[in-house]
Amino acid sequence: MEKDLKNKSFVEMEKILIDLGEKPYITKIIFRWIHECGISDFDKMNNISKVLKQKLKDKEFYISKLRIKKIFKDKDGTLKYLFKLQDNNSIEAVLLTDNNEKERFTLCISSQVGCKMNCAFCATGKMRFKRNLTSAEVVDQVIQIEKDSKKRISNVVFMGMGEPFDNYDNVLKSIYILNSPIGKNIGVRKITISTCGLIPGIKKLAEEKLQIRLAISLHSFFNETREKIMPIAKKYKLKEIKDSLLEYQLKTKRRISVEHLLIKNINDNDKEVNALINYLRNLDVYINLIEYNEFPGSLFKSVEREKMKLIKKKLETIGHTVACRYKRGDKIKAACGQLGSL
Ligand code: SF4
Repeated sequence: MEKDLKNKSFVEMEKILIDLGEKPYITKIIFRWIHECGISDFDKMNNISKVLKQKLKDKEFYISKLRIKKIFKDKDGTLKYLFKLQDNNSIEAVLLTDNNEKERFTLCISSQVGCKMNCAFCATGKMRFKRNLTSAEVVDQVIQIEKDSKKRISNVVFMGMGEPFDNYDNVLKSIYILNSPIGKNIGVRKITISTCGLIPGIKKLAEEKLQIRLAISLHSFFNETREKIMPIAKKYKLKEIKDSLLEYQLKTKRRISVEHLLIKNINDNDKEVNALINYLRNLDVYINLIEYNEFPGSLFKSVEREKMKLIKKKLETIGHTVACRYKRGDKIKAACGQLGSL
C-alpha cells in the first residue's frame, strides 16, 4: 500500500515524483493515466520516459488493480460487480441507471470487507468484519466499473458493504481523489456518505467544509427498537445523534438525506411514523422510504407498497419531500442490505 500510486492523493504523488528528481508537471500526466484512463501498467504510459518508468519500478512503486470476478445483471438494468481483492477477500459494488434520466448512472460502492455494525436486517452485517478498504480499493471500484460498463458514473453513494465512518480517513481520501479535476472529476455534491449514526464521523465531516451529501440511516425513532435491529444504537442514542445532525446542519447548511428502511411490524406503525416526524423537527431533510429487501436467512418482511405510499403521503402533508425507493436489483442480490449474501 505504501508503494501503491493509486493510493496517493495528487499532492502525495507529486512529492514522490519530486523526491525521484522529476518535475512537478509529471504528476498530472501519471495521475491522469491512473485515474482518468484506468491504466495500471507504467509501460502503457506512452508519454513518460523509459528512465522514469525504470526508476518507479526500481523503487518498487506499482499501481494496484481490482479484479472483476463476476458481473450479475438484473432485468431492471442493475449491474452488480463482484471484485476479488489482492488478499482474496471479495467486495461488491452496484451500478444503477436512473429511472428517469437514462444517462445518469449511480454507483453504490463498498468501504469495508464486511461490517462491524451487525444490523439485523442487512446481509453484510451477517458477514464477519475482515478489514477496511484502502482508498485505492474504494477509488478503483469507480475506475474498473466505468471501464467495463463504458458508462460515465455521475453519482457515487457509499451505501455498499461497510460503514463509511468506520473507515473515515480512507473514505475521505478516496473522495478527494474521485473529485480531482485531473482524475474522475466527480462533483462532491454528487457523492453521498451514508451512516448508521456514528456521531464522531458526523462531527468530523461537519468540519471538512465539503459540499458532500450526508445520509443518515436510523430506521427507528425509539432507542429500544433501534437497539433490537441496530446494535450500534446501544452506543449512540437518538438524542445525541440529533444534536450532532443539528450541529452538522448549522455548520454546513447542507440538507440531510434520511434513508428510512420500512420493515413490517417493526417501524411501519403510526407510533413510529409520528416519532419520525417529531425527530425530524428543526432539521432540513429529504426522506427516502426504502423497501426492505429480503435475503436468504433474513428475519424480516417488507411493507406493502400501498402502506409505503400512505406513509409517504403523511410525511408530505407536513411538508417533507419524500421518495419511495422500491426494490432494484433484488433478483441478483444487489438491492439495499443484500450485499454479501451470495
Ligand atoms: S446496514 Fe450498513 S452499517 Fe448496518 S451492517 Fe449493513 S453495511 Fe453495516
